[in-house]
Amino acid sequence: MKPFNLQSLVRPNIWKLKPYSSARDEFSGSEGIFLDANENPYGNLNRYPDPHQKALKTALSETKGVPTENIFIGNGSDEVIDLIYRIFANPGKDSVLICPPTYGMYEVSANINDINIVSVPLLSDFQLDMDNILKQINENPSIKIIFVCSPNNPTGNRLRNVKTLLENFHGIVALDEAYIDFRADRSYLPKIHNYPNLIVMQTFSKAWALAGARVGAAYAQAEIVALFDKVKPPYNVSKLNQDAALDALSLKHEESDRVCKIMNEKEFLMEELEKLPIVKQIFPSDANFLLVQVSDADAIYNQLINKKIITRNRHSQIENCIRITVGTFNENRLLLSELKRISL
Ligand code: PMP
Repeated sequence: MKPFNLQSLVRPNIWKLKPYSSARDEFSGSEGIFLDANENPYGNLNRYPDPHQKALKTALSETKGVPTENIFIGNGSDEVIDLIYRIFANPGKDSVLICPPTYGMYEVSANINDINIVSVPLLSDFQLDMDNILKQINENPSIKIIFVCSPNNPTGNRLRNVKTLLENFHGIVALDEAYIDFRADRSYLPKIHNYPNLIVMQTFSKAWALAGARVGAAYAQAEIVALFDKVKPPYNVSKLNQDAALDALSLKHEESDRVCKIMNEKEFLMEELEKLPIVKQIFPSDANFLLVQVSDADAIYNQLINKKIITRNRHSQIENCIRITVGTFNENRLLLSELKRISL
């Protein structure tokens, strides 16, 4: 087995890239007369934000127990996904391995970047098909990246074989933990120090309740974080976004309360959904949503829409399944009362 070699995985133009040096790179103090960046001297948001998000990284470092040099902040984790392709895969040449049904942006971003997709579907229990994955990575040297999502969207389960993947694949394993804060004890974050090929992606959009602010994070070895920093637009995370994330981190107890409330509501929803004749199966979930197999997903989805209750119809990926996000106390009861009324 070849040892891990970062340079061999990086697009040659990116390895050589001399990054943009922003005006604020040269002077980092907050006091002074700033005539360097062609900003407007008037107003509240007139100054460019910190391109290195130092305050946010320091706070995140304390919360997550990871040194700041191992943290990259993106404009949502969707930006992180795109950057991973732009750093590690050559358009028209390299491949990514993905395991559907999973988060759709791995495929969309691959297509935008003209990266070939090798698809190894999850098994019927929604776990990784390790035999097939190992076969693909051994036979196909063009595979530079594997995206895995745990807990997986839309199935909700955690994946079991991530460690085997990390030990057998010498490309980049991009582990999407968007939903991990609902089961934080299971995160792979501490493992970034053991595996040079691991990138853990997390987000403020779910447990931290900041989907509107667009803040995501990637955690990896410092050399990989430096590559992200090289490629990102200089001011990729606005001051408003950075401040929103900082505020959320300073109110950690609110995040724990929210997670607790959502998990209790999820239990309640599961118990009540199980009683409905239109519900055939509820899949185990470690996230803030449930994948529910029903008697007729299209009909039920449409009837809910008519009542202004929007769920996600996943029938095209998993037969007769809809994905239901856990809402507030009232929203969940309204959903259940409409589901009880549905006649097919
Ligand atoms: N990964 C997964 C698995 C997701 O479900 C989502 C959003 N639904 C994202 C990433 C994107 O997150 P962000 O809002 O941080 O861009």
